[in-house]
Amino acid sequence: MFNKILIANRGEIALRIMRACRELGVQSVAIHSSADADSLHVKYADESVCVGKNTSAESYLNIPNIIAAAEITGAEAIHPGYGFLAENAEFAQICEEDQFTWIGPSAGVIRQMGDKATAKSMAIAANVPVVPGTGLVDTVEEAALAAEQFGYPIIIKATAGGGGKGMRVARDEDELRVNYVAARTEAGASFVSDAVYIEKYLVNPRHVEVQLMGDSHGHMLHFGERDCSVQRRHQKLLEEAPSPAVDDDLRQRMGDAAVRLAKAVGYRSAGTVEFLLHEDGSFYFMEMNTRIQVEHPVTEMVTGVDLMKWMIRVAAGEAFDFTQDDIKVQGHAIECRINAENPERNFMPCPGRVFYYHAPGGPGVRVDTHVYSDYMVPPYYDSLLAKIITHGKDREEAVARMRRALTECVFEGLPTSTPFHLEVLDNPVFLEGKATTSFLEEELSHLQEGLRVRAKSEKA
Ligand code: ADP
Repeated sequence: MFNKILIANRGEIALRIMRACRELGVQSVAIHSSADADSLHVKYADESVCVGKNTSAESYLNIPNIIAAAEITGAEAIHPGYGFLAENAEFAQICEEDQFTWIGPSAGVIRQMGDKATAKSMAIAANVPVVPGTGLVDTVEEAALAAEQFGYPIIIKATAGGGGKGMRVARDEDELRVNYVAARTEAGASFVSDAVYIEKYLVNPRHVEVQLMGDSHGHMLHFGERDCSVQRRHQKLLEEAPSPAVDDDLRQRMGDAAVRLAKAVGYRSAGTVEFLLHEDGSFYFMEMNTRIQVEHPVTEMVTGVDLMKWMIRVAAGEAFDFTQDDIKVQGHAIECRINAENPERNFMPCPGRVFYYHAPGGPGVRVDTHVYSDYMVPPYYDSLLAKIITHGKDREEAVARMRRALTECVFEGLPTSTPFHLEVLDNPVFLEGKATTSFLEEELSHLQEGLRVRAKSEKA
């Protein structure tokens, strides 16, 4: 096992990694920006190094300074968390070349899977079903021709894309001509490449993803699925495990497909294979995330496996001490991402001071957060305040616990997405387990009306 790990991240995920380090008896090094000097991840770590000024580019994306921090503190390994440099193949390669163990898959695999068009062709080669689509399309004319062939609606996707960016749906040729340019422009501004491809746009699918992990002794295991269909603008808001739409047979088939792909690319470490699940039970590979996901805790809650500790253990060369047959999904878990944003004002981010914070507790409740009373949420990074995760013997109990936990939770001083989550938890479509990726759009007026009523009754 390592003696010391540098955590190249901030916020709740940096804390999550440090907690795993503590339990493993490993020292942790925090890096931080000037704005995060008083952050919990800095206080919690055994050592900390300021790597730059406030913006992400100056600090959490500042590769030379992060490597220097690892050198001066004598860290042996680097954990990137999610976001920032987690899927940056160049950073992974520099770490490897500088003799720091990268806690993640190899730079080569990150590069291959980070390019969505390449990842899709790898999935096809591994006999994993993919959404019908094209290779890269260089001109709008080529795009129009392909769309005609697949039939509208289609989706234009940036091959280097992520976080819902560089993606546009088109329902006819006029929309395609406008959105092709928009997708390329957005991709060019956000990513290393502005290349795009086209896919058939599935109507009302569910987003179901499989968690997997490989060690360096030839074992590749899957840990069941998560349903992340409750999304806003392709960004996940609430996740659950297991998926209400997946039975044991489908779980096995999706798990097998994910493992087949991971084995084919020589994967090690934790990763997620994302699928779109059609109403008729057919599923299609969408992309692979070569890192730990925000929503990993729901899988930890239902399987009882500490994914973060195992991610570190396999990076240190350990072999799994359990097999696929030992991994059982027990009960149901839900995660709500509580953001500092105003759901009544189109989810506008609202950074600022949390004057008072009170955490929910009681049976089956887990809170992953970096917030404390009097914490200042900086405007420079994402607006995630906390992940609240509940576990119950079944979905009904997990939902009831989430409602209770959300009403116990206090973030005084700024608006949060909590009231919106409470609306989702009361929504009949969600409660029936029928939410697809169109849920939010289709139910928006009901959810907003509920929000108005809730706000009025709170004022009264
Ligand atoms: P990103 O990498 O930006 O997160 P993804 O490829 O994972 O993008 O897609 C994000 C979301 O967009 C999916 O969860 C799904 O809701 C929607 N989506 C993507 N591709 C399709 C498709 N072909 N048909 C229908 N919905 C899609």
